[in-house]
Amino acid sequence: MSRRGGYNELQRWKERFVLLMKEHEPQDVWALDVSEALNPCPHGWYQYQQRRLFARFECSGCSKHWNSAWSSILFHIRFLGSWDQNQGQVKMWMFRQKCRRCTMARYEEPVFSEKALETILHNLAWKILEKSYGEAKRNPRPCDVEEVVEGPHDERNCEACQHGMCVETHTPWPKAKPTYPAPSMERKENFTRSASFAPSTEWERVFARPVSVTRPTEGEEWQQILAFLFVVIVCLLFLASYFR
Ligand SMILES: [Zn+2]
Ligand SMILES: [Zn+2]
Repeated sequence: MSRRGGYNELQRWKERFVLLMKEHEPQDVWALDVSEALNPCPHGWYQYQQRRLFARFECSGCSKHWNSAWSSILFHIRFLGSWDQNQGQVKMWMFRQKCRRCTMARYEEPVFSEKALETILHNLAWKILEKSYGEAKRNPRPCDVEEVVEGPHDERNCEACQHGMCVETHTPWPKAKPTYPAPSMERKENFTRSASFAPSTEWERVFARPVSVTRPTEGEEWQQILAFLFVVIVCLLFLASYFR
């Protein structure tokens, strides 16, 4: 819970989203939370991503501030219907960026203004209403660029770019198969590009059968015993002929 700008910041997102869904679908219960890691879309969940969002960043190493109009948030959405009440769940992952001045920079969380938060959550609510409640499709509101953004997008220090998710790709609803790595036990801060693009090696290392250890079969064991006996008999015969 320490990530995403602290408890209050996260609480602001959660409460606003719950209220927004209550306005539209008062009979249903919706909840928003952050994802523990950048995971592929789980089975039975829908994937939705908002791009080109304006956010501010601050380096925890050198305190440098920068703005970006290329922030992005990934949402995984699940809708559970029952006989008396529908429930919905949203998990979000805010893509992070690194300071370009520090060589050992860590990924920093984006900070969104109140206005950007409203835009993003409205777009999210509209998408849910369209996909889960069959309401008419609405064009997403663009996110305002609130301050000067210097230079082109810094792709090398953008988490979404590193996973090939900064640019628009056409992913079908609901079974989006993202191209970024499989879930890992590693914390995201430690992710390197080479590690994240080798999704199944960890699994294979743990569960694959070792190939270097070869156990002799029963027939091979017998052959070894017979060869040993043959050598012993030859030696005995040799000794016997010597002492005759
Ligand atoms: Zn820095
Ligand atoms: Zn990017």
